[in-house]
Amino acid sequence: AKAAGKNTYQFFTTEMNQAALKRLILENQLRRVLEREELCLFYQPQIALSTGQLVGMEALLRWQHPESGLLSPSQFVAVAEEMNLIIPIGEWVLRTACYQTQAWQAAGLLPIRISINVSSRQFKPVYWLQTIKNVLQESQLAPNYLELELTESVLMEEHNDNNNSIVAVLTELRTMGVQIAIDDFGTGYSSLSYLKRLPVNTLKIDRSFIQDINSNRDDAAIITAIIALAHSLHLSVVAEGVENKEQLIFLQSRQCEIVQGYLLSKPLSQEEMTKLLQRIDQQ
Ligand code: C2E
Ligand code: CA
Ligand code: CA
Ligand code: CA
Repeated sequence: AKAAGKNTYQFFTTEMNQAALKRLILENQLRRVLEREELCLFYQPQIALSTGQLVGMEALLRWQHPESGLLSPSQFVAVAEEMNLIIPIGEWVLRTACYQTQAWQAAGLLPIRISINVSSRQFKPVYWLQTIKNVLQESQLAPNYLELELTESVLMEEHNDNNNSIVAVLTELRTMGVQIAIDDFGTGYSSLSYLKRLPVNTLKIDRSFIQDINSNRDDAAIITAIIALAHSLHLSVVAEGVENKEQLIFLQSRQCEIVQGYLLSKPLSQEEMTKLLQRIDQQ
């Protein structure tokens, strides 16, 4: 390429726009992210509203980028999905979350549930069932400490041939003891029929509804309805993105079980989460 010298350079600047070039660089860096061990997980505490106790944590993916620092999923997950890299990355997330949670338990710290995010692009049901079985066995984590956060789009793919296998696979996971949560509940498709067909444990109310809880009467009504719906179906409810006391009080008044958000804690690095668990252990 160097032999072509100036001409090559001119070709790229004129024929390719900046965005495409940036994207190409990102793709090349992303392709090597696993072998270079640049991914890590942060852990955001989930707190039971009735007791104030830590009952779970959500694993949130980060990329320790060599030049740009810590990147959040919005900066690379969509690209990873398009490149099909979300399959090996998702497997890395599952493996890391299970091994870390088991390591905390083996150290004698409070055993709590870990939730991981699974995008629709990566949820190939039969492959996932086998991978989860393998990882649980290798890591020795008891299945009831693992929760999958699936979005409505995974569950609603009626056009998808996989739909029967989704029901079968989720049923088998539940039988093993793995928990299933519906993530970003209320933001996706509006049909609720899948709630009857699928063995779900938990609804997670999206942050967009929590945000304006005390100024937007529609959002308040939607949250109230989601919590009532969940309870009548014997599902538990997690509210995400809780940032202030007013939101907490509202959720408490509606008997929401579990809260997660900056008011309680930001997502913590592995070291910070270890310290938090050690502090709880000493109480
Ligand atoms: P999500 O599942 O809705 O996760 C919650 C997001 O809200 C996280 O952003 C979290 O850091 C942020 N958050 C938590 N509490 C608050 C709060 O009080 N206020 C505000 N403003 N934000 C809060 P994050 O970590 O940037 O993740 C964004 C999305 O990326 C996640 O949304 C999830 O859909 C996706 N994601 C995260 N980790 C993974 C992963 O391992 N695999 C896949 N496929 N997707 C992931
Ligand atoms: Ca202990
Ligand atoms: Ca989530
Ligand atoms: Ca959300």
